[in-house]
Amino acid sequence: MSNGWVLPDELLRDAPAYTPRPYELADLELLLTGAYAPLAGFLGRADLTSVARRGRLADGSPWPVPVTLQVPAELVSGLDLNNPVERGLVLTDPEGAPTALLEVTDLWPTTQGWYGVGGPVRRIGDGGHGPFQRLRRAPAEVRELLPPGRVLGVIADRPLHRPQLAQIAHAVRTLAAHLLILIPVANTSPDGLAPEVLVRSIFGARDRMPPATIVAVPIARRGDDIWDALLRARVARAYGVTHVLSTTEMLTGGGLRMLVPRELAYDNRDGQWRWRDDIPPRNRRLPLGQEEIEDLLDRGFPLPEWHTPPTVAKELTRARPPRRHRGLVVFFTGLSGSGKSTIARGLADALRESGDRTLTLLDGDVVRRELSAGLGFSRADRDLNVRRIGWVAAEVARHRGLAICCPIAPYHRARSIAREMARSAGAGFVLVHVATPLAVCERRDRKGLYARARAGQLTGMTGVDDPYEEPKDADVVLDTTDLTVEECVHLLLTHLTETGWVESRLQPA
Ligand code: ADP
Repeated sequence: MSNGWVLPDELLRDAPAYTPRPYELADLELLLTGAYAPLAGFLGRADLTSVARRGRLADGSPWPVPVTLQVPAELVSGLDLNNPVERGLVLTDPEGAPTALLEVTDLWPTTQGWYGVGGPVRRIGDGGHGPFQRLRRAPAEVRELLPPGRVLGVIADRPLHRPQLAQIAHAVRTLAAHLLILIPVANTSPDGLAPEVLVRSIFGARDRMPPATIVAVPIARRGDDIWDALLRARVARAYGVTHVLSTTEMLTGGGLRMLVPRELAYDNRDGQWRWRDDIPPRNRRLPLGQEEIEDLLDRGFPLPEWHTPPTVAKELTRARPPRRHRGLVVFFTGLSGSGKSTIARGLADALRESGDRTLTLLDGDVVRRELSAGLGFSRADRDLNVRRIGWVAAEVARHRGLAICCPIAPYHRARSIAREMARSAGAGFVLVHVATPLAVCERRDRKGLYARARAGQLTGMTGVDDPYEEPKDADVVLDTTDLTVEECVHLLLTHLTETGWVESRLQPA
């Protein structure tokens, strides 16, 4: 890869600017800090081919995984790769602040309308911001701080409960190593914790672990376990790690030694954690699974002290309060006239009566007037509409409010984005499919839309000449053909009560 740097600063302002996608921004940050050494930038085609074929860059240095950037075609149409001063691309953070300059040395079409760009990157602007910025130290800086000798790396992508802490303590003792905790902070944790919650929970366990250096690393999951493990190992090594403690039986690559811990259990005779097979069955308690932990939190029960240090439990309880106090998005989907608005209004009234939570009703027509004025009914506009609704709903729920939305939301993808936005906001998401058949909706034809669609005066009508993708992940399905509105509202309230989202006293008699 070319490292020669020629683009002078004064040409920056003429260079096109682009905000990469979140996982690309995470890669960018790791490139800029040197955590991806020897990589100096995004890979071009020669390196990509070589990585795919033999796990090495074109120059022969080992590198396991593609690190790529894609940009829209129109952005790069004016670049001239042969002219060093006309091949600069400014990369900005999501707020639009310049983060890096990319000198494009390779450019190739990928999917429709997109180009892959390769070339070295250099930091511009004043560096990053965000919570716990002081923990985002660069590898060189961290290596300086480490004592000589072995360094045990722990990639802490989940809170550390007592079994994990016991494992760490054991490994540190066995290896006589210094402990380096790397907390991935590029996206929500696999358990759905926001990065700052994960960081606080790890710090909550700090006085239960051997002396440790703790670093936050913007390493994103790519959805491929092997790639993730390989990249994490590379990054760990850049930080000076010699051994990693893995909780999965994953290869690490990159020349690191891996310890696969044995299963521990709690010995209730003396309160120690030791190998489970060394404890008689009647005296041992096995670590709680993630589902058990979440269930206790959801129902508002304390995490048991034998399992979780109180300081860690406190952070988890704050981040995941009992469901009845947590934000919630109730998302209706269904054909026009299926009954979404009517049921949603009934539900909203019932919930308002209780006064437990503030409530925002994002109804289809109101939304189209206030939030999505000007949008039409093309696939792109419909997706955008649902996205906006999902975004607002998630913000309402982030602050422990209750948002009820009732767009038609005919496409699965848009619905799952809404679900994901709620989840990232630490809120619940209940998908209600109002599955009234088309024939019934059409017979009701409350707004006269079906008649107009059949007469050809209206195109893109869901169910008539535009598809409705039936949800396979609905939490509640209601067919209003033979149900009254009251019955539908009652069924929904029952569901919300049984799943703990609302207090049981709301349940109508
Ligand atoms: P959408 O919001 O899905 O377009 P609306 O709620 O605006 O649908 O319209 C549904 C129509 O169906 C209303 O006229 C409503 O009175 C009628 N309806 C009949 N039974 C029910 C029921 N069980 N639930 C909801 N609506 C019903």
